[in-house]
Amino acid sequence: MEDKKQQLIKIIQDFTATTGIYLADDVEKRIRELAEEEIIPHAKTMYECMVKDLDLAKELHRPICQDTGVLQYFVEVGTSFPYINELKEILTEGARKATLETPLRPNVVEPLGEHNTGDNVGYGAPYIEYEIVPNSSDLRVRLYMAGGGCSLPGRSKVLMPLEGVAGVKKFVYQTILDWGVNACPPLCIGIGLGTCAATSAMLSKKALLRPIGTHSEYPEVAKLEKEIQEGLDSLGIAPLGFGGSRTVLNVNIEAAAHHPATLGVGITTGCWATRRGDIVIHEDLSYDFVSHKKALEGTK
Ligand code: SF4
Repeated sequence: MEDKKQQLIKIIQDFTATTGIYLADDVEKRIRELAEEEIIPHAKTMYECMVKDLDLAKELHRPICQDTGVLQYFVEVGTSFPYINELKEILTEGARKATLETPLRPNVVEPLGEHNTGDNVGYGAPYIEYEIVPNSSDLRVRLYMAGGGCSLPGRSKVLMPLEGVAGVKKFVYQTILDWGVNACPPLCIGIGLGTCAATSAMLSKKALLRPIGTHSEYPEVAKLEKEIQEGLDSLGIAPLGFGGSRTVLNVNIEAAAHHPATLGVGITTGCWATRRGDIVIHEDLSYDFVSHKKALEGTK
């Protein structure tokens, strides 16, 4: 059992390190598409720098960006997964080892005390959110590396009932106009729609974790994703605030049925180097690194 536990820690360690070194397939594909289609010369140069950075990170086996963020694990664990009771310890140890051995930048400072713990582990860190899956023996782990700049524009508020879709758009556009440039655009935009500030913020994070190219299953919401993407692109903020044809890599919205008197809207932003990983681990510890299939081709 102890050997298996160590094996699982190593899988989490490697998964975490890899997420810091290689972009997920969908994010890298989108960056390369934007680099290809950009026609404004200085913007094209910025994209060329990004692509070179991605290639160098792979070649040197070093993180894409110096800010490897605070590690956030979003876990869906089957009730029959054999290591369910030790999951917090396993994820924490995997995060610590990935930080020290990759290395990732130690970003975690104690709440208000600001003392850096040195290994990205501390009170409430790494952040772990659990979802229990009945009748399953699998573990799915999604990792998001929450950098400083890319977390900065995040916010949520509750709109008055009659503000509706126009209120959602106004809030999102104003947020990106005011703060988007801090997050190294082009941006991945996650938007959550719910009843209160808390649920809409959580839904916006869920939206950010969804791959580029996927759309809401609700036609009205999918339509709004497209409209907001077009609206944000017209701001011409990216790349890196120098101005260009695009502002965003994508816009994803997760919406939940809400109270008739309120519409909560949350926004979470990811930068051009949005680092998120998605892995499914089976009870025999075989695994499928869902988000990085292409990135890892030929590396084993
Ligand atoms: S916003 Fe992203 S690319 Fe920019 S410094 Fe932060 S983590 Fe790095």
